Amino acid sequence: MIPLMKPHLGEEEISAVSEVIQSGWVTQGPVVASFEESFAKCVGSKYAVAVSSCTVGLHLALRSLGVAENDEVITASHSYIATANSIRYCGAIPCFVDIDPKTFNLNPKQVEAAINDRTKAILCVHQMGMPCDLSALLALSKKYKIPLVEDAACAIGSETFINGKWERIGKPHGKVAVFSFHPRKILTTGDGGMITTNSKPLAEKFRLLRQHSMCESDHTRHRKKKVEFESYIGLGFNYRLTDIQAAIGLVQLKHLDEIVLKRRELAKLYEERLCVIKGITPPSESLNSKTNWQSYCVRICASVNTKEVMQKLLDRGISTRRGIMCSHLEPTYESEPWTWFGKNSGKAVSLSQSELARNHSILLPLFHDMEIKEIETVCEVLDKTMTGLIQQQPSHDKEFISE
Ligand SMILES: *Cc1c(COP(=O)(O)O)cnc(C)c1O
Repeated sequence: MIPLMKPHLGEEEISAVSEVIQSGWVTQGPVVASFEESFAKCVGSKYAVAVSSCTVGLHLALRSLGVAENDEVITASHSYIATANSIRYCGAIPCFVDIDPKTFNLNPKQVEAAINDRTKAILCVHQMGMPCDLSALLALSKKYKIPLVEDAACAIGSETFINGKWERIGKPHGKVAVFSFHPRKILTTGDGGMITTNSKPLAEKFRLLRQHSMCESDHTRHRKKKVEFESYIGLGFNYRLTDIQAAIGLVQLKHLDEIVLKRRELAKLYEERLCVIKGITPPSESLNSKTNWQSYCVRICASVNTKEVMQKLLDRGISTRRGIMCSHLEPTYESEPWTWFGKNSGKAVSLSQSELARNHSILLPLFHDMEIKEIETVCEVLDKTMTGLIQQQPSHDKEFISE
């Protein structure tokens, strides 16, 4: 069986965790602080604040920027559902716009068309690690004075060419960027997230809110010689990362460069083999972006049934996933009258590129220890599958239409 993804964890992580357990302090404490410091250095941000997931990090980011009830936040439907959910946690309305089919990322023209006086933020996504068009989105953010938040869940180690040089995603380029450490991402702590910003007031707000708005962290208080009582200065949350998780993160971060390098090598091998397969379009980077290849997403020509391709690969022991979901097609969003119609602006928005991307792309296996032989197997099976399906097209066309 060739899996889609395997976390790259080993002895080093095990001994780091064991050290934390032996220290007697296992929740958010000194190891989280040191993970934050290393993370900020790694992406080039002034501040990094660890949280329990990217989803809650996005919630804190939007909330701290003042996003509230009935505000609109422009974002992609074509993303993991957490992106849109973080907007709803604030009581705000996700205003979905379509993607650029080449990058799977927000189309800046559509973003501009959706801006209205209820728009409180733009939440862009670096989908599957591929940096979105930050220059264009930052120009809009400046022009309309709307903050840009980056869902960088997948993008640790990805780079963008901006201001005349290559910079890592997370610097951040918008007001705030948020990363995920879920095992499907390339740096994992089991679960976890990191918010980066260059704003001191925002970083302080995140630190407060993640720990019930407690005026002083328990780790600081526990080490004091004087008895002191904490106070809770507002409504906060428990969004803490633990020292156990941070210990894993610190080890992972140390190996980030080599992890990204390996993925780039594997992606290159894929591309060389896939570009000659009929009906398959491999992904590609634009001139101003370098992805970490968190996911390797290929387009399947529209005349072939995606599910059938996936089944045939699974029958040969190759695990794949359908391309990124569209939130507006999920029951929890479909039933809402306001989604993707831009109810407040009165404009109906087409999300056709998002739907095409969801329906006609698949993610291929890509993991650190993947062998060249395995890449070859995937490509050979995919080649045979596509050739077979394209030849018997008429009957499959019918199936596709009825899907
Ligand atoms: C994985 C992912 C998230 C959610 O990350 P969690 O850490 O699991 O909360 C959000 N947005 C995108 C684009 C993702 O891929």
